[in-house]
Amino acid sequence: MVQFINEAREISLGNSIKTIVFKGKTSMCPENLDYEECKLKGENTYDLLDFEREVSSKEKEIKDAYEKYKRTKDPTLYALRNELEKELEEARKKAQSLRSRSCPKLYEVLKFEGNEFSSWLFSNVRSPEEVMEYAEDRDMCGYELLKKELKNTELLICNFHHVLSAEIFMTLLKWLERGPEDIILIFDEAHNIEASARSHSSIMLSELTIEKALSEIGEIPDSDSSPVFGSGAGSGNGIPLDQDYAVRLYAKRLFSCLLTALRDSYDSKLKFGERNRLGKNWQDIQISDPYERLDILKARFLRDAKKKDLRMKKRF
Ligand code: SF4
Repeated sequence: MVQFINEAREISLGNSIKTIVFKGKTSMCPENLDYEECKLKGENTYDLLDFEREVSSKEKEIKDAYEKYKRTKDPTLYALRNELEKELEEARKKAQSLRSRSCPKLYEVLKFEGNEFSSWLFSNVRSPEEVMEYAEDRDMCGYELLKKELKNTELLICNFHHVLSAEIFMTLLKWLERGPEDIILIFDEAHNIEASARSHSSIMLSELTIEKALSEIGEIPDSDSSPVFGSGAGSGNGIPLDQDYAVRLYAKRLFSCLLTALRDSYDSKLKFGERNRLGKNWQDIQISDPYERLDILKARFLRDAKKKDLRMKKRF
């Protein structure tokens, strides 16, 4: 990123171009909070501001009601004032409890009005560290300050993830107040796009997850081998299968079939002795043919499922 910042600084010497260098929230949070904690504190901060607005509007209503009462001596206005005071007390209590669970640095950003930060930011190309320092001096959150200015930027420097994750990209476009057709994307280190895009577009289903699903189903005798249960709901010589038994049995067969197909797929790709050399770290094993697009796991799973008469279309 340093290289881009330096290049953008060079460009800005001869061209006035409003530049923002944007980093992820967790790497910019001065409180070192993770995404979920920040999200929760952020929601509380917005609620706090709502309650504060409610408090000031109630205070104004009370004042107006009292002024009118003094002029008219109308007892209903006096009663209204008492009622409003109770509501005000309630709103104050809520605001107080939210304050302890909110983020004071975000609160400062949301309360802040004026263009002092904008002028400072766009007078040069500022690194995220400089923005964090600027914000720290003012008890503010640098990330939230930058976010507010995204709609004014003409050049945004950020990492791949902001574009390749559909969810982050849509959020970013909203903050930029632009549509995908309004922007030009330039990728550096383009040879990394493929791996990055794949990681953002993949659904992770680990072997462990399938094993957990099987253990959740629990011990369940197979109807075919059980002398107690009949084979197939309502048929056979044994006890007829109830709905719950039939569903659990089906799930057990399906997940077992998927687990076996998964293990067989990667085993078939490992060379002799390779399995023992695998450490605890992740390692990609390609189980699809890059040219034919044949997904070996899918093919194996569907073949075995068909053999075992597991009709997924019908069930799911
Ligand atoms: S709003 Fe900013 S300072 Fe507050 S928790 Fe989130 S990233 Fe951290």
